[in-house]
Parts: sequence; structure tokens; C-alpha cells
Amino acid sequence: MINVNEEIESTAKKKITAQLKGMTMSELRELVENFSEKSYRADQIFSWMYNHMVTDFDAMLNIPKNLRILLKNNFQLSTLSYIDSEISTKSGTKKYIFKTNDENVIESVIIPEGRRTTLCISTQVGCPLDCKFCATGLMGYKKNLTAGEIFDQYLLANKDYGKDRITNIVYMGMGEPLLNFNETLKTLRIFAEEKTVGISLKKINVSTVGITPKIYELANSGLNANLALSLHSCIEEVRSKIMPINKKYPLKGNIEAIKYYQRNTKTRITFEYVMLNEINDRNEDLKELVKLCSQLPCKVNVIPFNSLDHMNPGGLSAKLKPTPKHRIDEFVKRLRDKNITVTVRFTQGDDIAAACGQLAVKY
Ligand code: SAH
Repeated sequence: MINVNEEIESTAKKKITAQLKGMTMSELRELVENFSEKSYRADQIFSWMYNHMVTDFDAMLNIPKNLRILLKNNFQLSTLSYIDSEISTKSGTKKYIFKTNDENVIESVIIPEGRRTTLCISTQVGCPLDCKFCATGLMGYKKNLTAGEIFDQYLLANKDYGKDRITNIVYMGMGEPLLNFNETLKTLRIFAEEKTVGISLKKINVSTVGITPKIYELANSGLNANLALSLHSCIEEVRSKIMPINKKYPLKGNIEAIKYYQRNTKTRITFEYVMLNEINDRNEDLKELVKLCSQLPCKVNVIPFNSLDHMNPGGLSAKLKPTPKHRIDEFVKRLRDKNITVTVRFTQGDDIAAACGQLAVKY
């Protein structure tokens, strides 16, 4: 048993960096046991953090004072602070700028689409992958977000936007979720917990470039979130050019991993396909895409390319052009003619630089 007064004195001197937010139910159970408290206290703390979204330990009313003091002296509860937000009058898309306690700036975006409202969250500050068409790639990589910082994007956006208005979540903001695997997984576990009100894993989509071994690991985690693969080309050489990570984890191995994922989770994969003029929109590209889609339950999400001009890129990035609209329509029609389910992402938020691939920080 830890003596509370000693605890206050010893921790008053040290800077607290451990984050309570981001802890899963089983981590919280272990924690309260270490504090010699009953296990149901973990359920209460869990609910205060993730359902009531409290930002102050003193608001945890049914937690005994001693335990609250212990928590206060050992953990941070707030992991992000609100800096700014911008709303697109055109589409209703709302971009948030948040700051981490260690002064990194990240972005999350709310995308209203008919009856659903999707929140797009970031998993890293910047991104190490250098995909040639993506603005986040151009800004480089700074750090992995903690589970608390990832989950807090949902809590803060939910609180601001109106409780329970967010219906879906996509891990499609800045960064590669599977390169920040453990922290991403923890946030999925929090969403999956029965006691979390709100969003079930069925409404959550984790988007990846395809970090092959991690797809297997996610498949074995017992969680069945939906997976999206940033495909962008079915031809290995083309894909390697626009997505250098394909040299390390070629598409072929990723497709095998996805088939394994589907067997384990009974989910349908979404292939994201950014339309790049004369790069991945030719006849041979379409043929290969049709071939791939015949192999597994899938859906193709065709995405108009958002220009990177505002980033002044060099190299291949500078040469990329969007496929003209009439050719996107033709591409989509030919996929549909083969009975492939296709959605076309209506480009939203480009007036506030919150469109896909534009989440680069100007702050
Ligand atoms: N690293 C993960 C998560 C980031 S989501 C992944 O790549 O899947 C990145 C998605 O944003 C891509 O699949 C693509 O759909 C989209 N995207 C990136 N750059 C874009 C651009 N310039 N225009 C349109 N969409 C883009």
C-alpha cells in the first residue's frame, strides 16, 4: 500500500509524463490492483475517461479521494489541447488542430456524409513513408502518437461537435497506423470494450499502406475492425515508384495477409485508389485491378487526387496530375460493369486543406 502523503511529496518534485488516457481496461485493472484497490474501480475510471470524457481527476466523483490523489500525482489525464478549428462552408468538413503536451501539432477532420459523420484521426506526427502523392509524406516524420493522443482526438472532436454525432472513425489522418501498432491497437481495444458507449469496431476503418507482418498481427488480435489498403496500383513496379514502402512489403505479400485477415475477421477489405493521370489510370491498370478484385471480397474507393502544389514538391510529386473527371467516370463505370462495388470519394474540405493527403501542418 502506498502512503498517500509520501506519494504527494515525492511526485510533487518530478514531472509527470505517464498518461492515464489511452489505457485499456486490463491495464487499468492492473493499475488499481497495484494501488491495492478493488478491480471495479478500473471500470469506474474507464467510464469517467472514455464515456463521460472528464478532463479533471476531481470530476471522477465516485472515486475515493485517496485514489484520486494517487492518480493525480502519477498521471496526466489530458493529452491534447485544442488549438484551432476551421469549417468548410462548401461541405461542412471541419478540421481540428490539436497540440500534444510535448508541443507537437496534429490534425483531425470531421467529414459529414449524409446520415453518417466520419472522424478521420491521425496516428503519427508526420509520416515516414514518403508516398509521392501525399502531403503528410512530404513533411517528414516526427513521432508516434500515444494511445491517449490518438483516442483524445475522438474525445475532443466528439465533445466539440456534439455528443454522439460522430458515427464512424477512419484511421486515415497523418501517419501509418500499423507502424505505430501497439498504440493503435490499444485504442481499438478501448473502442471494442463493451463499456465504451458509442462506436463499435464495425464502424471503424484502419487504413494502411500494407505493413505485411502487422496485418497478420492485427488479424490475430481478436479485434475485427475493418481494414483499408491504400492500393493505388496493382502493378508492383508502378506501386513501388509512388509508394516506396512497396519495395519492402510488396503488394503480393499484402494480398496474402489480407486474405488471412478476412478469414479471421469476416470483414470486407476496402481498396483505396487515388487517380493519378497516366500513372495508374490506364487500360492495363484497370485490367489488373479487375483481376485483383476477383480474388477476394472487396470494395474499391476511387479518390480524385488532391493537388500538392501548395507544398511546392520536387521530384515525381511535382509531376503528378489528377485524372480528369470524365476519365474517372469511365474508369468507375468499367469497374462497375465487372460487378465490382465502387464508391467515389467526393473531394471534401479542399478549401480548408483538410482533404486527404493534405493534412500537413502549417502551424
Ligand atoms: N498511412 C495510411 C493512413 C493514411 S491515409 C495509409 O496510407 O493508408 C492516406 C490516404 O489518404 C490514402 O489512401 C489516400 O486515400 C489518401 N491520400 C493521400 N494523399 C492524397 C492526395 N494527394 N489526394 C487524395 N487522396 C490522398
